[in-house]
Amino acid sequence: MAIYFDSAATTQLDEQVIEAMHDCMKDNYGNPSSTHSFGRKAKNTLETCRREIAEYFGAQPSEITFTSCGTEADNLAIKCAVEELGVTRIISTEIEHKAVLSMVKNIAKLHHIEVEYVSVNEKGEVDLTHLEELLSNSKKKTLVSLMHANNEIGTLLPIKKVGDLCKEYKAYFHSDTVQTVGHFPLNFEEMGVHFAACAGHKIHGPKGIGFAYINKSISPKSMIIGGGQERGLRAGTENLIGICGLHKALSLSYSNLEKDKQHISQLKNHMKNELLAYFGDQIRINGCPDNSLYTVLSVSFPNNYNNSLLLFKLDMKGIGLSGGSACNSGADQGSHVIRGIYPNASEYIPLRFSFSKYNTIEEVDFCVNALKELVETTVSV
Ligand code: PLP
Repeated sequence: MAIYFDSAATTQLDEQVIEAMHDCMKDNYGNPSSTHSFGRKAKNTLETCRREIAEYFGAQPSEITFTSCGTEADNLAIKCAVEELGVTRIISTEIEHKAVLSMVKNIAKLHHIEVEYVSVNEKGEVDLTHLEELLSNSKKKTLVSLMHANNEIGTLLPIKKVGDLCKEYKAYFHSDTVQTVGHFPLNFEEMGVHFAACAGHKIHGPKGIGFAYINKSISPKSMIIGGGQERGLRAGTENLIGICGLHKALSLSYSNLEKDKQHISQLKNHMKNELLAYFGDQIRINGCPDNSLYTVLSVSFPNNYNNSLLLFKLDMKGIGLSGGSACNSGADQGSHVIRGIYPNASEYIPLRFSFSKYNTIEEVDFCVNALKELVETTVSV
């Protein structure tokens, strides 16, 4: 039995994505910057992908810049806001993905930027009253960077409300949309974001490709210097194979969105109900049950259950999942998200189950039964 419950970390490639990339590899190897027919063909594919990708988000093609991953898109947005737009103050939270959290800390130190953290409650919800207070109490040019959905606990941001607040107080707004692209219909203009981010590997696309959305009101200069690719913003020969894969992945995600959403939500609810029925109040469901990613279920087990052993034993049974974010695996301080929202974080250890269209109810049942058996045999108190 091999069960993959770590799709928030990365996803299994869709066969149709592999096919699209394979076709591109075989038939479309020209350099999009070359002026001969091979180059023109590649350029045409590149711009068709960009145009059709932009359409999913109500964006213009020129607002889409291809990047190597979600981290690069987040970094690019924050760097652009500080170094090109003259932002001297950033408002964010302590529970952002490290692609934002570490970048904000880094750039703040480098450019003497003021950083304010908005309060979040125990469900991971951003305190909008506090956000407005912060926005209203300074005249500094400000960037608000708040993730659309938390990758560890799944809590969703009321993004339109934040967009409206940013507009009212004339702040730039960056949202890390890595976990919502392809899972929700998104219109960046209507959401009021200036910057957003995507990573192809979160939606059954390839690793090594993503994009940054940069609103047309902003015209950033070079971020990677060299040739004039990506309108001079990000030099380097484009990853056309990855772009074709991302294009196909998005097209599949958006054409099957409702069907996949229904299936995945059913898996998440079944897992949650089965765990609660057996473990009751010994476990804690993290995040905000009514306003959460349908792909992510974060459950904290008391740490006397010897959770790290649990993860290892689940792995031995062929079940792959994370203790939190995959990017933090190997870090010994646990999840900064859980520590950020729960005062008694050390008494619990989170397991993050994240689902995809490829998972089944039988897999959920197998995993729940494995957990029941393992918890009974690893409980150390
Ligand atoms: N932001 C969020 C919310 C994520 O979940 C991730 C990946 O885990 C990233 C950013 C970084 O994306 P990538 O791994 O493609 O750099």
